[in-house]
Amino acid sequence: QYTDIAVIGAGLAGVSCARQLAAAGSQVTVFDKSKGMGGRMATRRGDGFSVDHGAQYFTAQQPDFHAEIHAWQAAGLCAPWQARLVQHRPTGPVDGYPEHRYVATPGMSSLCRALAAALPVQLNHRLTALQRQADGWQLSFADQPSWRARQVLLAAPAPQAAALLDAAPALRALAAGVEMEACWAVMLHAQAPLEIGFDAAWVEHGPLRWLARNSSKPGRSGAESWLLHATPAWSAAHIDAPADEVAGLLHAAFAELVDSAVDARNRSAHRWLYAQAAQPLDIGSAYQAELGLGLCGDWCLGTRVEDAWRSGRHLAGQLLAAS
Ligand code: FAD
Repeated sequence: QYTDIAVIGAGLAGVSCARQLAAAGSQVTVFDKSKGMGGRMATRRGDGFSVDHGAQYFTAQQPDFHAEIHAWQAAGLCAPWQARLVQHRPTGPVDGYPEHRYVATPGMSSLCRALAAALPVQLNHRLTALQRQADGWQLSFADQPSWRARQVLLAAPAPQAAALLDAAPALRALAAGVEMEACWAVMLHAQAPLEIGFDAAWVEHGPLRWLARNSSKPGRSGAESWLLHATPAWSAAHIDAPADEVAGLLHAAFAELVDSAVDARNRSAHRWLYAQAAQPLDIGSAYQAELGLGLCGDWCLGTRVEDAWRSGRHLAGQLLAAS
């Protein structure tokens, strides 16, 4: 099968890039290894509850992303999250930093799904190799037929992109130079609402970095659910620990922090191997027109949803300017 431009990654960077190219008349197909859209803007649904276990919310640093958020809000794709947020210090909680925080509705993963609704998307397609051909690239996928494309844009976390770039040493070196830190996430489906005076906390001590009452986000239905993120250091130290053990340890740390028994109907853990760049680049995106190969993703600019959006659009702009 053939597509003019193959975008690898259906996270916000890939989807933003593909949308801009499609709007300019390009023929684009988006591929992702997962069975769902959104990448690290992820939502796990269980029996009667749902939890965002990757990105928690987004903010806008620059006016163009602010305008984009307002357009999403007008289309019903996101809403402000009025969380009671605290900084949890060793001495106890103090009020958190006031900011306009937004979440996609009804879950973080729904944003990319909605934004890509008019694009051809091939899920369950893990790209395993890229081979240069006279007129473009041959793309090999695990357990799927191969495709050909004139241009390939990788919108994956830096280490996953680097692994696919044997044919482009300069781009490979760029991506391979960006280390991404891991993050263990634990999802708790609470037995009963927790009577603590906040919905979310940045934690400044112990194994936890962040916790959130997911059910306090707008547009969520179902029972009370909580999300816990461990610090990068704790996550690295427990990188190969079994998920059950991690869920137990972080659940206990949460109960100790809020000084309350936290009864959970069920709990699960997810390991993000490549959560956020330790030291992101400041390049927008990378594109080699002579190879028909480009790179984008949050790590090209920062560590956040806004960076992913901006990087995807930056790459689309580079490609359109060169063609
Ligand atoms: P991704 O969303 O990672 O998308 C890349 C896609 O590429 C994935 O879907 C992946 O499956 C796919 N892929 C990779 N390799 C292949 C392959 N070989 N073949 C096919 N597909 C492939 N940001 C905020 O702004 N606020 C937050 O509160 C926040 N909290 C976070 C908490 C955690 C735990 C994590 C993990 C991230 C958080 N972030 C947060 C960061 C935010 O999630 C990212 O900046 C953003 O979602 C990255 O988008 P992306 O498109 O660059 O990459």
